[in-house]
Amino acid sequence: MLKNLFRKREYVTVSTRNLEDSSHTPNIPNGKWTNCPKCKNILYKEDLDRNYKVCIGCGHHFSISAKNRINQIFDKNTFVELFKEIETKNPLSFEGYEDKLELNQAKSGLKEAVITGTGEINSLKVATAIMDSNFMMGSMGCAVGEKITCIVEYATKNRLPLIIFTASGGARMQEGIFSLMQMAKTSLAISKHNEAGLLYISVITHPTTGGVTASFAMEGDIIISEPNAVIGFAGRRVIENTINEKLPEDFQSAEFALEKGFIDSIVKRRDLRNYLYKVLKLHGVRENAK
Ligand SMILES: [Zn+2]
Repeated sequence: MLKNLFRKREYVTVSTRNLEDSSHTPNIPNGKWTNCPKCKNILYKEDLDRNYKVCIGCGHHFSISAKNRINQIFDKNTFVELFKEIETKNPLSFEGYEDKLELNQAKSGLKEAVITGTGEINSLKVATAIMDSNFMMGSMGCAVGEKITCIVEYATKNRLPLIIFTASGGARMQEGIFSLMQMAKTSLAISKHNEAGLLYISVITHPTTGGVTASFAMEGDIIISEPNAVIGFAGRRVIENTINEKLPEDFQSAEFALEKGFIDSIVKRRDLRNYLYKVLKLHGVRENAK
């Protein structure tokens, strides 16, 4: 009882007026608090976690881990991981790649930048892949491409709808052309899933760029995005230099993509589970026979 006496339960906002001036920057104790990169408010991490990692002040969607995403979207204890054994090799003997992989595995607690498996949303069973930008920016190498291909083929074989959550910096440079080949491989698997008359929902999260945008992220029957996610292929500066023109301010945002008809809707993270359930139900996905 006593130890909770001084526990701050209320959300705390701090004036951003003097944050630019480092002499006035509040001394934030490590671990418990974080800054919103958009509105600069200081947020209590536990409050942020409770709010789906969305800033209570401005609605900014923080990046979340694949594991966190699984907890938010799927019914408790229904997620079954598949194709966990697929691991990255170093096909081009790229110097320092193994060390980098090890470092990222230790940092993220993941083997690779995607988790694949099956899960249930209000008892509707789906096959799913969830990318994690904490692992080498969610870049797609052979293992990521193979895991995604395997789960799509599994969905086709078992007549399951498919939901892929994307978050990626694009192809993985350390695997060169092998990395680019994953775009064709995943796309072929998705086209077979499509030919079998099955539903694929793509959920784009911040940031989704490069080869992932140019393949499975944009191949959904229904394409949803979280608010303000960056969605693009080449980087902004590359395009500006190539076409020698200034691009609009909101270029490559989810809102811009929606306006131009590249995606179907923008859904806030707290509404996502329910939204996916409704889409699955609408398309005749039935409850998993127990
Ligand atoms: Zn904010």
